[in-house]
Amino acid sequence: MKYDDIIIGGGLSGLLCAISLAEKGRKCLIISQGQSTLNFSSGSFEFINTEEGEDFEHAIAALPSRHPYQKIGVDRLPRLRTSVAGLLDRAGIRTVGENERNHLRITPFGALKQTWLSLAEMTHFQKDELLGRVLVVDIRGFLDFNASFIASSLGQMGIQADTCEVYVHETERLRDNASEFRSANIARVFNGYTIDRLACAINEKATDVDFILLPAVFGLDKEEPARRMLEKLNKPAAFIPTMSPSVPGIRLQRLLKQRFISLGGMFLSADTVCGGEIVDGRLVSVRALNHGDTRFEAENFIFACGSFFSNGLKATQDKIYEPILGLDVDYEGGHGEWFAPDVYAEQPYMSFGVRTDKRLNVSLDGKTLENAYAVGQLLSGASPIKSGCTGGVSAVSAVYAADIILNQQ
Ligand SMILES: Cc1cc2nc3c(=O)[nH]c(=O)nc-3n(C[C@H](O)[C@H](O)[C@H](O)COP(=O)(O)OP(=O)(O)OC[C@H]3O[C@@H](n4cnc5c(N)ncnc54)[C@H](O)[C@@H]3O)c2cc1C
Repeated sequence: MKYDDIIIGGGLSGLLCAISLAEKGRKCLIISQGQSTLNFSSGSFEFINTEEGEDFEHAIAALPSRHPYQKIGVDRLPRLRTSVAGLLDRAGIRTVGENERNHLRITPFGALKQTWLSLAEMTHFQKDELLGRVLVVDIRGFLDFNASFIASSLGQMGIQADTCEVYVHETERLRDNASEFRSANIARVFNGYTIDRLACAINEKATDVDFILLPAVFGLDKEEPARRMLEKLNKPAAFIPTMSPSVPGIRLQRLLKQRFISLGGMFLSADTVCGGEIVDGRLVSVRALNHGDTRFEAENFIFACGSFFSNGLKATQDKIYEPILGLDVDYEGGHGEWFAPDVYAEQPYMSFGVRTDKRLNVSLDGKTLENAYAVGQLLSGASPIKSGCTGGVSAVSAVYAADIILNQQ
C-alpha cells in the first residue's frame, strides 16, 4: 500500500498535519493505536504563559534553543498560528482567541488559566473583563463537576459566585448507575427539547445574576447542542470543562477526523505501528500489528505518537526510548534524576522526547532520516506544564512539518 504521507498517531498533531497535507491533494494515511489526549482536553489550546500585557513572541524569546518553537523559528510562529486557526475553522471548529496574546479561561477547579485558542462556547475573557455576579450550574448527581468548589475559587478572586442544582428526568435516569453518570453519557441525553427544558430550569434560578457558567457536557459530535443551550438562556453564559472524559475534546477529535476523511484521507484506527524498513537513510515503509506482513509505504512519514501518556515514548529503569524504530531520544541522567520529588516542581521527564533538527527530521543512531519527521508532544525540548505550551507545540509543529513536505514537492 503506497501513500504520499503516512502519519503515525491520530491526535491533535497527527490530524492537523494530515489535514494540511490532504488539503493540498496529497494521499495520506493515519495509523493510530488508541485514544489521544484530545479526549481529556479542556477545549482550549495553550501556546505559552505570558506576563500581563506581554505578547507571545516576547515570552518565546526567553525559551532555550532546544525548545520546538526556537527550532521552528520565532518569525514563523505568527503565520503558523494563523494556519492552525484556519484549519480548525475549515473543520467546523469555531474558536476564539487572538493571534498574539493570551486570554483567560476557567479550569474545572475554578482557577483562571492563560490560553491561546478556546472553543467559542468555553469561557474566554481578558482580566479587565472579569465576570460580574456569577451563577455556577450543577447537574444533580454529576460528580465530575464541582460547582461549589468552582464558586468558592471564584469567590477567592473577588468574583461573587453562587451555585444552583438542576436536572431533567433523562439525567435522573442515568443516576441508576453511578458509573454511567459521566460527561459523555450526559451529552448523549442533551439534545433538542431536553436542552430547552434544562434551559427553562436554569432561567428560573438565574434571575439575579450577570453570567451563567455551565459544565461542558453538550455536543459530542457537533457544536449545535452547546450553541442551542447558550441561546436558550436569558443571561450571557459559557462552559467550563469537566473532569475527563471531555465532551469538547471528544468533539474536537471527531470533527478533525471527519475533516481528514472528507478530504480523502484514510484513517486506520486501533492499530499500532511496530516497526519499519530503512533504506539509504530513508524510511521506506512501516508495519502495523494488525496487518501482519503488509508494508505501508510512503514518501514521507510523520511521527505524531505523543509522549509517555500515549506510548509515543517508553521508559524502563535504565533508559527512555521511542518504541517503533528506536529513534534518537533526548534525555539526561539516570532514573532518579528524571523526576523531581516535589510534584509541583518542573519535572525533567516532561521535556524528554525524540531528537530532531530544525526541520523536525528525526535521527537513528545519529543519522538523519531525511523523509521522517516528529511533531507534537513527542518532540523533545519543551517543558509543557511549566511554560504552558502544550497544545501550541502540537499544533504549530504539525503545520510546520506539513509546510516543509509541501515546499519540497
Ligand atoms: C490528560 C491531558 C490533558 C490535556 N489537556 C490539554 C488542554 O486542555 N489544552 C492543551 O493545550 N493541551 C492539553 N494537553 C496536552 C496535549 O498533550 C496536547 O495539547 C496535544 O493534544 C497532544 O497531541 P499529540 O497529537 O502530540 O499527542 P497525543 O494526543 O498523545 O496523540 C498521540 C496519538 O498517537 C497514538 N500512538 C502512539 N504510538 C503509536 C503507535 N506506535 N502506532 C499508532 N499510533 C500510536 C496514540 O494512541 C495517540 O492517539 C493535555 C494532555 C494530557 C495528557
